[in-house]
Amino acid sequence: MYKAQFADPSKETVKAMAQAQQRICAGPWYAIPTIALQRLRAVGFPTEFPDVSVLARAAQLRLVASLPSFFTLFGQAKAALDSEECILDGLRPTWVQTTAIFRMERNWVTAHGLRNIRVTIRENRDKRNFQKQLYRLLHGNGIAEELVAALATRTTNMLKRDCRPLVEAICHRIAARTLCMPPCVRASLLRTISNGWVTSARLHLPWSTCRFGCSHSAPDALQHYVACPRLTQPLAAYLDVLPDSPGPDYLYRLLDPRGKDNTHVLVDYLHNDIAYTAFNAVRNDARTTPATAIGARLKTLTRRSPEVRRVLDPIRAFEAASA
Ligand SMILES: [Zn+2]
Repeated sequence: MYKAQFADPSKETVKAMAQAQQRICAGPWYAIPTIALQRLRAVGFPTEFPDVSVLARAAQLRLVASLPSFFTLFGQAKAALDSEECILDGLRPTWVQTTAIFRMERNWVTAHGLRNIRVTIRENRDKRNFQKQLYRLLHGNGIAEELVAALATRTTNMLKRDCRPLVEAICHRIAARTLCMPPCVRASLLRTISNGWVTSARLHLPWSTCRFGCSHSAPDALQHYVACPRLTQPLAAYLDVLPDSPGPDYLYRLLDPRGKDNTHVLVDYLHNDIAYTAFNAVRNDARTTPATAIGARLKTLTRRSPEVRRVLDPIRAFEAASA
């Protein structure tokens, strides 16, 4: 990262950073798109992974802004290269334009054209957070087009229908400050709309049956698990979640926040979270039953989150917390 103050990272560096970020997430493949990992703050997470390309631009801006002699040196170098001597003697090869000083100057001119960056550079007094401020301005705070596009592609492939409006609605609802939702519930929702559960269907493995053993015809697939009777029946004791029809339509309705109040949205996303946790518990330990996994997850959530305690039946929540 030290070199990134002077030069943009190579394609190989960007790829290596993306792979490292994916490994930290412990996904077996790019289970959550890298663009989503780098824009977690936009959808209400307290932190996110850095985008190394944007970080390099912010570092270069910080360096130029903190070097009073930069433009004097740049002017001298440019004047020397523009001199008749250099031109006549052919001493100005094209690679000169790609050197650090020229790239930093171009980056500065481009970024300086943006009003908010200009104001930050002029008025910044807190030198410790200068680069961080520049990074946030360059990266943007809102829900980026690329984030919605990356997630919508995954959800569309999973549900075999156009899910862009759905994903847009989910992103805006979970970003709203009025919706209080624990970060772990946000994380499992992100995993679901990224189609990132480790099922046979997702990994394109030979067809296998539901891990909860509900039926010989039920597939090992995300769309089935959120509506699997082995899971929803014990869960219905705590949440109003009994699906009328299992399958992709039910998952679409479960994820769709449009026309629902915040409590309803939280209940539906809790359902998704508990299904995801129970699925992983059973996948990692065949002796665990869905009911045990549900109890353990409820116990954790009710202890950690006042929002979850509020939407659960108080007596059942107490039982789950003290079980
Ligand atoms: Zn099942």
